[in-house]
Amino acid sequence: MVNAQQLVKSFGSQIVLNGVDFSVDRGQTVVVIGPSGSGKTTLLRCLNHLEKIDSGRIYVDGQLIGYRERNGRLVEDSDANIARQRAQIGFVFQRFNLFAHMTALENIIEAPIHVLRQPKHEVIERAQILLEKVGLSAKASAYPHKLSGGQQQRVAIARALAMQPKLMLFDEATSALDPELVGEVLKVMRDLAEEGMTMVVVTHEMGFARDVADHVVFMEKAQIAEQGPPEQIFGDCLNDRTREFLGKVL
Ligand code: ATP
Repeated sequence: MVNAQQLVKSFGSQIVLNGVDFSVDRGQTVVVIGPSGSGKTTLLRCLNHLEKIDSGRIYVDGQLIGYRERNGRLVEDSDANIARQRAQIGFVFQRFNLFAHMTALENIIEAPIHVLRQPKHEVIERAQILLEKVGLSAKASAYPHKLSGGQQQRVAIARALAMQPKLMLFDEATSALDPELVGEVLKVMRDLAEEGMTMVVVTHEMGFARDVADHVVFMEKAQIAEQGPPEQIFGDCLNDRTREFLGKVL
């Protein structure tokens, strides 16, 4: 589903992705872990062209992301095509970014109605099912400021799912939450993984990585230092740096 080859990304003179190859099979949950500043968030943001790569190629479901070929060279795609690609990739941010002046339900139905131009009654019906899925049926009419952080994040996940994405990207989705609210968001993510959604999850939640990931990627200093099934990474990792990192966080 995701096939990224030789990604290079710099901010000024700082290289943040240094020749990263990254892939995700359909239905898999890949969890990306690693020290602060290692490039995890940047990798995720490149996957839907929120950041432009300097070189390399990213394919999602066979489509080249953000660029098209012209006379053997890559040129950036049109805004309309980039928006179309992004609409198929759900992104859940650390900060929930809900529209403050809209209820939970209105937040969820906004893009399917106005971007995908789907019929309102169908979208509302689907939004109600999604609210139930994230355990918030009773909060359909609540405005974000009346919801806890965990509830807001669950609305944000429902909002992303309402676009019927092929792929879901989670960028430290629980890092801004009070500890007691983390579990309810992780449960929604775990349910999604079990249903077979294709997911890339950047997280510091090692329990989630160990229990839910099909594949764990350890990033360090702009590169993938080690990757493998959770039993390898959390059991008998091959790389000293992985072991040192896990020794600090576990
Ligand atoms: P964390 O776990 O702390 O979120 P991370 O592994 O996700 O870290 P990134 O957020 O990808 O790391 O950042 C990698 C490096 O790139 C950091 O040194 C960061 O300061 C830098 N960086 C990220 N975004 C930008 C930007 N928009 N402009 C300049 N530098 C940036």
